[in-house]
Amino acid sequence: MKVMKFGGTSVGKPERMHQVAQLITKTDEPTIVVLSALSGTTNALVEIGTYISKGERNTAKECIDKLHAHYESFIKELARSEAAYVKAKAIVTEHFEFLNIILRISFSEALSKDILAQGELLSTKLFCVYLEQRGIDHMLLPALEFMSIDANDEPQVGSIKVKLSQLLKQHSDKKLFITQGYICRNARGEVDNLKRGGSDYSASLIAAAIQASVCEIWTDIDGMHNNDPRVVNKTVPVEQLSFDEAAELAYFGAKILHPASIWPAQMYKVPVKLLNTMQPEAKGTTIEEEASSIGAKAVAAKDGIYAIRVKSSRMLLAYGFLRKIFEVFEKYRTSIDMITTSEVAVSLTIDNATQLKDILKELEPLGTVEVEENYTIVSVVGNEIAKEKDVLTKLFQSISTIPVRMVSYGGSPHNVSLLVPSASKTETLKLLNKGIFGL
Ligand code: ADP
Ligand code: ASP
Ligand code: MG
Repeated sequence: MKVMKFGGTSVGKPERMHQVAQLITKTDEPTIVVLSALSGTTNALVEIGTYISKGERNTAKECIDKLHAHYESFIKELARSEAAYVKAKAIVTEHFEFLNIILRISFSEALSKDILAQGELLSTKLFCVYLEQRGIDHMLLPALEFMSIDANDEPQVGSIKVKLSQLLKQHSDKKLFITQGYICRNARGEVDNLKRGGSDYSASLIAAAIQASVCEIWTDIDGMHNNDPRVVNKTVPVEQLSFDEAAELAYFGAKILHPASIWPAQMYKVPVKLLNTMQPEAKGTTIEEEASSIGAKAVAAKDGIYAIRVKSSRMLLAYGFLRKIFEVFEKYRTSIDMITTSEVAVSLTIDNATQLKDILKELEPLGTVEVEENYTIVSVVGNEIAKEKDVLTKLFQSISTIPVRMVSYGGSPHNVSLLVPSASKTETLKLLNKGIFGL
């Protein structure tokens, strides 16, 4: 069995749904198709939720109506028969009625998750209408019946596996299954999600649960590129990556993959392929256990980083100092991305500042604490990077004009991370593209 996940752009237009239908019916292998919401929908739902939470119901209503109109015109183009149109219209009406009801009740965190779930619910149901009108046999598997997270927001792999295989067993006569990415149930049984971009994570979790032969992530670009194509003009796809390399790129900002989407596939040894819906013949990127070569493969950047320096009040870093610092971050469930130490001070970075005030208060007794914001982590990712001849020389020579705040290598042999002011991000990515990849 295989998993094919299609992102927002891949289902964002009626003709794209047609392309997706062609791709998923090319294979004889039983397939679970994971769909995102139509492009732009989740952003619109976030906006709607924000307005409702602020009590700006009129503005929220305007956003709901605008989104509703978009879906009305979408289904007019999607449906080729009156019967299909009537079905699609009923689905759209049902979900927008739900949003309009939410407008009238008092807002809660749980309700905001319900709002966010509408995108994937709509896209999968409408896609099923499309498949039905084309006479393509399929089955909709509701993700809310098998995808779940625990009280720490971690996916419950064991339970997902059991529930999903039960559902598949019940429909063993079917070969094509459609399900929602992104959405799940939380420990309280409420509708929740796997965070923005989470459909990749859903796909990988499903692939792990069913021990799929492959997890294909179909998107709007021909694989993982060597640099961020949104920032740098000349980038090229990377043909092969190891799970470790891909995980580092995803974690350090390569938007093509959700940051957590690699570990389930890695743990259950399912190869991942990144492919382009608009250019299906392109090779894309294959992600598997071993890297095919050593050296730097790609650069990624993660914005919104806070740099914290703690200077020990004693002359040297006495033992126990690092433990005390880490305990503070653990207490406030804030993960540290980069860390460097000197004789007397520790510098570290975080990307989640929601608990920063409390963290700083608890760090204060340990020494002098300084915080700086608006930083970006730029990561050069590859396999045994330092073993590639001259790569570190090329790397540092190319960015000699950049005011680098921190450098880290060795935590993993797959990553050299640099902390730079966000204002220098674009220049850093461009310089590294030339310096390391000659592009
Ligand atoms: P989807 O909606 O299919 O999930 P995303 O927008 O989440 O698609 O991810 C694909 C986008 O990721 C690309 O269009 C590209 O702009 C961006 N991206 C960022 N870094 C990279 C990279 N290193 N390689 C390829 N794409 C990247
Ligand atoms: N629709 C969700 C989002 O936009 C999940 C996804 O597309 O992966 O974040
Ligand atoms: Mg995505």
